[in-house]
Amino acid sequence: MSFDVAFGVDVGGTKILLLAINRDGEILFEGRRSTPQITTAPGQATAEQIHGLVDEALGSLQLSLDNVVIGVGLPGIMSLDGELVFAPNLLNDSGTRLAEVLRQIAPSMHVLCENDADCAAVAEHALGVARGVDNFVMVTLGTGIGGGIFVHGELLRGRSGFAGEIGHMVVDAQGPPCPCGSSGCWERYASGKGLARLGSLAAHEGRLPELVKARGGADNVRGEDVSAAATAGSSEALAVIREVGWWLALGVSNLANILDCGLVVIGGGLSDLSAMLIPPALEFLPTMVLGAAARPRVDMIASKFGERAGALGAGLLAFERLS
Ligand SMILES: [Zn+2]
Repeated sequence: MSFDVAFGVDVGGTKILLLAINRDGEILFEGRRSTPQITTAPGQATAEQIHGLVDEALGSLQLSLDNVVIGVGLPGIMSLDGELVFAPNLLNDSGTRLAEVLRQIAPSMHVLCENDADCAAVAEHALGVARGVDNFVMVTLGTGIGGGIFVHGELLRGRSGFAGEIGHMVVDAQGPPCPCGSSGCWERYASGKGLARLGSLAAHEGRLPELVKARGGADNVRGEDVSAAATAGSSEALAVIREVGWWLALGVSNLANILDCGLVVIGGGLSDLSAMLIPPALEFLPTMVLGAAARPRVDMIASKFGERAGALGAGLLAFERLS
């Protein structure tokens, strides 16, 4: 059966985004809802929220469920047969097969699930800044850090489908605890939560005096305050962004050393900060990558689709695998 429309859904730690696309990747509809934070039967609340968004999109486009294929990107390790085995930033849904839960709600739904950053990598490879690039890593900076790795033009999936969990690469074994159970994971430093943590630390150490004054105390300084102040040109806030850039470069240098990727694409919810994060990271990178002076430059660029890349790629994968 041939389908003209796919829905790509990206489930993040805080929000769910749905894009309806055609086969050229053009966006026909966009909708979002918050990620349920309540504890129900595993997967149930998330599936109901997705189903609500799907209904809204079908109504808006005047389509029926039989006319569309649906891909869902999830933030955790996915088995090759679609189980969300472990999701530190979506713990209530760990161990579920969300596609099956969705089909219990809507039996005729054509749906598959895939890791969210893998979806983002597929979107950038098919239609974005990694078009024609055979070896690259997609780094999604959101609540945590996701990774999608292309090697020799193919998505690297690994033995069980779990490859690419770059956010849990340990960059400081003495570092802060991570919801995954380990300590000092890369995503404690270079993600949205990392920015919030480093910003709070800087505020309490007296490195953000203007922001602390504006927010009425160091305890009130949030990650978004640091990024807003940096965007407005505050040098003290830009220093914190530069620190996040240093951690970004550290993780990227490990990836470059292991994979010999020539390109790293920066996406995810934090990609609005790419213009401020990437230049310092590129400045630090040559001091970290093995034999930097003797090897081709490792480039780092902002994703074309930003926080939409995961949903777009989920839709493209649904076209590829379900029709
Ligand atoms: Zn971790």
